[in-house]
This record gives sequence, structure tokens and C-alpha cells, in this order.
Amino acid sequence: MARMNFSPGLSEDLPDLPHARQLKAGFHRLVFHPQLEGEFCHARLEESLGYIRANLLLAVLITIAFSAMDALVLGRNLGRIPALIDITFIVPLLALVLAVSFSPRRQTLLAPLAIMAFSLCGLGQVIIQVLAARGGSTFPFPSMIITAMYVYFLAGLSFYYALAVNLFVLFAYLAIGTAMQLPNPGFSYDALTLLMANLIGASVLYVHEKTSRGRFLEAGLLRELVARDGLTGIQNRRMFDQHIQRVWQQAVRDQLRVAVLLIDIDCFKEYNDRYGHQAGDECLRAVASSLGQCARRPLDFVARYGGEEFAIVLYEASREYVAEVLTRIQRSIAELNILHEASPVASRLTVSIGAAYILPQANRTPEGLIQLADEALYGAKGQGRNRVVVMEAEYHNLQTGRFEKRRGQQTG
Ligand code: GH3
Ligand code: MG
Ligand code: MG
Repeated sequence: MARMNFSPGLSEDLPDLPHARQLKAGFHRLVFHPQLEGEFCHARLEESLGYIRANLLLAVLITIAFSAMDALVLGRNLGRIPALIDITFIVPLLALVLAVSFSPRRQTLLAPLAIMAFSLCGLGQVIIQVLAARGGSTFPFPSMIITAMYVYFLAGLSFYYALAVNLFVLFAYLAIGTAMQLPNPGFSYDALTLLMANLIGASVLYVHEKTSRGRFLEAGLLRELVARDGLTGIQNRRMFDQHIQRVWQQAVRDQLRVAVLLIDIDCFKEYNDRYGHQAGDECLRAVASSLGQCARRPLDFVARYGGEEFAIVLYEASREYVAEVLTRIQRSIAELNILHEASPVASRLTVSIGAAYILPQANRTPEGLIQLADEALYGAKGQGRNRVVVMEAEYHNLQTGRFEKRRGQQTG
């Protein structure tokens, strides 16, 4: 089948991000790379949970309605058997699936259980149809088509699962119908009708799933792009602002220390003037990439703060860890060994770092922490650049009042 292009014109210059890689590679087999596949399945189930539950209730109501019809219409020949299959077999299976949809373990349990339950429901219908057909009636047959359509479109199953359930029911009907020697041409006609219904259901569901997978990748890519700085590829200022708020609230709750490091390239204007803006951009990329290597614990956060300035947030940071990261940064910038002949500080590119390291308090906001790091950076510049200034105890003496939490402002 031809590949669908979800972002015409865009796919060529997409950055090297997981969603973009998958968009480029395509997914005509309706399977993503394992990590994305897990994310997609999780998101799909959680998003459609309300819809799946409502449809399960609908299925119970439909089954009860058909059981009443079965009792009225087929009862004369088959007694209570069809209604009993409906009420004591199919309805409890549907109710079980509904109950499991409320379980916290639904992500692992629901799909296998639904496959088993819908297959057995289909089998129950095959038995009703075969019994009725042997008695000369084909009234129950349309409900087999309704069931097939339900499994394709309303059960919330992925393409392959829905196809597996329906193929099982189709083959069960062919096998049992043949074994029980259902009268022809009625049996052949019904079997062909069921096969065609499956073809239509499967092809519509295929396109639907392909589209929803494409939308998932595009939405993920958009989120990634919005979070990243276009030049360096690391997180941008917007993400820094969100991250620091989140971390602050968490740190107030857990009473853990937070550090903010502001890293500013020294004499970068002179660098641009000497080597050109293009070289300046390359330099920013190199610095961003090496900063990303310096703070690699799961909760460490590195962003481009603006211009030639970067920010690092370290959560639950011990004094030793902050010192370790600061040393690593200085070493890795030195290892970049970028020539800067226009710098009055050194012959190679250098950075100044302002670090603030505090235990957050509920009556303060993170802006105070950033201001402290900014003051430290200002101090590092004032002392001649290419150095680190750390502010720690001064936080308690910060008298500006500007960053005092206003009354009524939400605490973390
Ligand atoms: P200081 O040591 O005091 O930090 O001096 P500085 O020259 O680094 O700082 P200043 O604020 O005077 O200049 C920052 C320079 O960074 C000026 C600006 O052109 C450059 N810059 C900001 N963003 C970019 C960018 O995206 N690419 C390039 N090439 N340069 C940038
Ligand atoms: Mg600078
Ligand atoms: Mg600057």
C-alpha cells in the first residue's frame, strides 16, 4: 500500500526527534518503534476510555434487545437456548470487559480480555445462527454483521486485534456451518456477505488507524518542536519557565535543594564580530551540546535561556553535585578549544557562570532563585569573566521584596 505523507513538504527538514524519525520511516504496517508504540497505545486507550465504556453499555443493551427478539421469534423452534446464550454468556462477558476498563491495570489487561470476550461473543452468535438456520430461519444473521461492525468500529480495538476477532468468528461460522451442513445456497450467501462486511470493516479501520497514528506523531512532533530551541536543539526558554515552576513546587513539598546555573559566553559579541554570525551559531550549538553532557541525571534540565546564555536546573542537588557539574562545565568548554582571538579574557572561548543553590521556601517564588543566579553571574563578569560565582546563604538576606510571594498566590 502507498505511504501516506502526513506533513507534505515538511518531512525533509524535520529535526532528529523520535516522532519525526517515525514520520519519515512511515508506518504502513501500523506499528511504531517500541517506545512510541507503547506511548501511542497508552494514549489511545486513555483518550477513548469513556467512549469504549459507553459502547460496552450499548452492546449490553443491544444484546438484551436481541435476546428478547430471539425468545419471541426463535423461541418456538429453539426454546430458550438463544436467549440463554445472550443473557448468561454474552452479557456477562461484556460486563466483565466493562469492569476491567475501570481497573488500574487496564493498560495490560483490557486488550487481551476484550479480544477473548468479543471472540466468545461472536462464537455465541455463530451458535445461535447455526441453530436457527438448521431450524430453517436466518433471522439472527444480520446481528452477526452488527457484531462485526461493532468490533471494528466501536470496541476500541486496534486494527490487528479487531481483524483477529472477526476472522476467528468468520472461520468459526464457516467451520461450524459446514460441519452442521447448513442448507445452501443460503449458507454460502450469508458466508459471502459476512466476508464482504469484514473486508469493508477492515479497510475502513485500517485507514482510520493510519490517520490517527499520523495525528499522534504530528501532535508529538509539534510538542517537541515547541519545547526546543531552533538553533541548538536543546530545551528553550518556555520550557525553562515551566520547568522551574514545577521543580520549585515539588522542592517546597519535598524540602529538597534546587540549584540554578546561568552560563554566559564571554565576549560573544566580539566573537561574532571577528568570525561572523554563522560561526557564532556553530559555537552556540557546540556549547549547548557540551552543556547537555554535563548534567545528565534524569531530573537535570538544560535550556537555552536566551542569546548566548544557558540555564541548568539541578533538582535535589547536593553541594558536591553542584560543584561537580560546575567543574564539568568548565572542563568541557575548555575541551571545545574554540579559538577566540578577540577575547581580552583568554585565547579560547570561555564562559562565566552564576550559580544559586537554595532550599525553597513556600513564601518565595522561583524568580528569586533566578535573580540570585543572575546576581552571581553579574559578579562573575565583574570579577573578570571566565569564572564561577556561587550564591547560597545570601538567599535568606535577599531584601528586594520584588520576588516575595504575594498573598493569595498559589503555593507549591
Ligand atoms: P559578556 O562577556 O559581558 O557576556 O559580553 P558578550 O559580548 O558576550 O555579551 P553581549 O550581551 O554584549 O552580546 C551578546 C552577543 O550575543 C550579541 C549577539 O549578537 C550575540 N548573539 C545572541 N544570540 C545569538 C545567536 O543566536 N547567534 C549568534 N551568532 N549570536 C548571537
Ligand atoms: Mg556574554
Ligand atoms: Mg549575555
